[in-house]
Amino acid sequence: MRGKIALVTGASSGIGAATARALATAGVKVAAGARRVDRLKELGGEVLALELDVTDRQSARDAVAAAVEHFGGLDIVVNNAGVMDSGPVAGADTAGWERMVATNLLGTLYVTHAVLPYLLARKGTIVQISSTAGRFAYAMGGVYGATKFGVNAFTESLRQEVTTQGVRVVSIEPGMVDTEIIAQVGDPGLRDMVQQRYRSMRTLRPEDVAAAVLYAVGQPEHVSVNEILLRPTGQV
Ligand code: NDP
Repeated sequence: MRGKIALVTGASSGIGAATARALATAGVKVAAGARRVDRLKELGGEVLALELDVTDRQSARDAVAAAVEHFGGLDIVVNNAGVMDSGPVAGADTAGWERMVATNLLGTLYVTHAVLPYLLARKGTIVQISSTAGRFAYAMGGVYGATKFGVNAFTESLRQEVTTQGVRVVSIEPGMVDTEIIAQVGDPGLRDMVQQRYRSMRTLRPEDVAAAVLYAVGQPEHVSVNEILLRPTGQV
């Protein structure tokens, strides 16, 4: 992977930050995007920090253009930016639904659309950070799950379109990972419940998910790892 060029979205914390670090350690040139650019700068001087709001189509295009201009192309893209809220459908604050759809689903589509010409040009790899919630539906996770099921459907469709052109398409589906995302659950009672559930087991660390990403992208060109589902051993 040494010398390859990667773009990681949502790299200012959690899984994205761990993935950007792991790629940089493996000798990959990394462009890291998020809204909190100050946090991206903590990834180290080698990493190109890019202001990026994936809900904004133009921002996605601009960040991709800046990465390509700086490094000269793109070989690996990790669509990781995401938000999570939980709660029952009845009485939900629908603004939270819109935020999840705009970030997790539309954001992934915008970034994918912007990077695809570059990945096709260099037979690159695109990695979507989906979720176990994209494979199994659960109560209180309806809209988050809808975005991740959507990402998985889009990803498989994309795979069928581009795989014979040499572009590898990967979906990574983690279970519970200890990150800042849990704090976003809007309902305080539900947030406590989720936090307790996370504390009740040895969860995955962001680095565990980063290792799965590196496994997938580090395979020889003829090997396409399409899907990795990983959970903490303690998660049923
Ligand atoms: P974090 O909250 O730690 O990280 C989320 C990242 O997404 C941040 O860097 C944030 O950066 C970025 N982000 C959010 N909104 C936007 C936006 N509009 N534009 C650009 N970047 C944005 O959470 P995780 O590391 O846990 O989440 C990363 C991914 O992993 C998400 O897609 C999540 O759904 C998925 N996932 C997480 C699991 C978990 O248990 N933690 C389990 C399965 C999947 P900033 O705010 O600076 O823009």
